[in-house]
Amino acid sequence: MIHLSRPDITEKEIAAVVEVLKSNSLSLGPKVPEFEKAIANYVGRKYGVAVNSGTTALYLCLLAMGIKPGDEIITTPFTFIASTNCILMAGAKPVYVDIDPTYLNIDPARIEAAITPKTKAILPVIVFGNAWGFDKIVEIAKKHNLPILEDSCEGLGTIYKGTKVGGFGRMSCFGFYPNKQVTTGEGGMILTDEQELVDICVSLRNQGRGKGGGWLAHERLGYNFRLPDINCALGVVQATRIDEFRQKRRKVAQMYQHLLAGENRIIIPQEPQGGEMSWFVFVIRLANKYSQTHRDHILKRMFENDIQVSNYFPPVHLQPFIADQYGYKPGDFPITDAVCQRTIALPFHNNLPESDAKVVVATLKKCLDEADSL
Ligand SMILES: *Cc1c(COP(=O)(O)O)cnc(C)c1O
Repeated sequence: MIHLSRPDITEKEIAAVVEVLKSNSLSLGPKVPEFEKAIANYVGRKYGVAVNSGTTALYLCLLAMGIKPGDEIITTPFTFIASTNCILMAGAKPVYVDIDPTYLNIDPARIEAAITPKTKAILPVIVFGNAWGFDKIVEIAKKHNLPILEDSCEGLGTIYKGTKVGGFGRMSCFGFYPNKQVTTGEGGMILTDEQELVDICVSLRNQGRGKGGGWLAHERLGYNFRLPDINCALGVVQATRIDEFRQKRRKVAQMYQHLLAGENRIIIPQEPQGGEMSWFVFVIRLANKYSQTHRDHILKRMFENDIQVSNYFPPVHLQPFIADQYGYKPGDFPITDAVCQRTIALPFHNNLPESDAKVVVATLKKCLDEADSL
């Protein structure tokens, strides 16, 4: 089986975790601030707040920024469900804007038309580790005096037009599930330059406790979204390797680009001008003449050939619980719909051997031949 994704764990990470296990300090210990500083320093932000997932990171940011039921948040329908779920969890309304057909991020040229008096923030996503358009999103947000909550969960290590991903938003979030560039098993990180927002997030992740108020003094409705020291220790070592990870991933992406060159039945993902991607995943798309039926056939046949692939992403606005609530239907966001029907995420990780990439590409070509005769 050639796996879709694999973490990159060395003896150093294992030793760091074992050290915590021997320390008796498994949670709320010294590894938490160490991990927060490591990620904040890497990106060049003042503060980091570690939490137990990327989803809870996004949710706490919305609460810290004062988002309330009835508020509207502008976001993309082409993303992982967490980008929308955090908005729904805060009681706000996701307002979708269609995507750019080449780079697949929210299309900055369509954002202004979606702004209403109820709009309280823009939540753009670094889709697949690509920050195309974020310079323009920052300009629009400034012009309309709207904060950006940057969902950079797929983009740690990416640099775009001189800014490291995580550096665009008033608040930014990373996720550390094992398929992400950096992993802590499960985990997330909030970045911001504002102490006041940090204080709220620190309180919310720890049962609403206040600064210096003691273990059983609760200032607000809070949660247990803490990230254990065991996970933070793993993250501290991974954080020293972010540039290594970016280089390895770019090499694997270039390998696929080379092996797939000239295959005109598919669209091969490319880095945008002015950027160095850290490549979360490698997602090809079938040419427009193919339908979702062809794509789904290829996914099934790749699995039957022991190659894990995936359909990143189905449209968020058409997930039944969202479509039912807001009345969305196919065709509302035509670019997203067209892209979602044709994507295939190929096996992709730091240490994917060239021999595996060759098997993936040869099998893909065979499956494309089959699709041609459907
Ligand atoms: C991974 C991811 C998240 C966070 O996911 P968790 O599993 O909660 O860590 C959020 N947004 C996007 C776009 C993601 O890919």
